Amino acid sequence: MKIVKTIAQNLCDNGACPNRAEYLIAREDTLLANSLSLCSACIKELYSLFGGILAPKAVSNLIKKAQMKNKILGEEGKK
Ligand SMILES: [Zn+2]
Repeated sequence: MKIVKTIAQNLCDNGACPNRAEYLIAREDTLLANSLSLCSACIKELYSLFGGILAPKAVSNLIKKAQMKNKILGEEGKK
């Protein structure tokens, strides 16, 4: 993916958003003419929403998972 700042005067592609698009977002193999145009307000809101979905797992959970894995491997080694 690539993000390009634009000076074009097109509107944001997010529904009925009335703002002027400031960034174009496109796959590397996609022409910028076919990109997604978004304003900074919508990008900030998307960033916040995706942060809640894609947040990294808590370190404490990763430690517990590793401890469980070691425990299981340890029990199999005793058999
Ligand atoms: Zn917008």
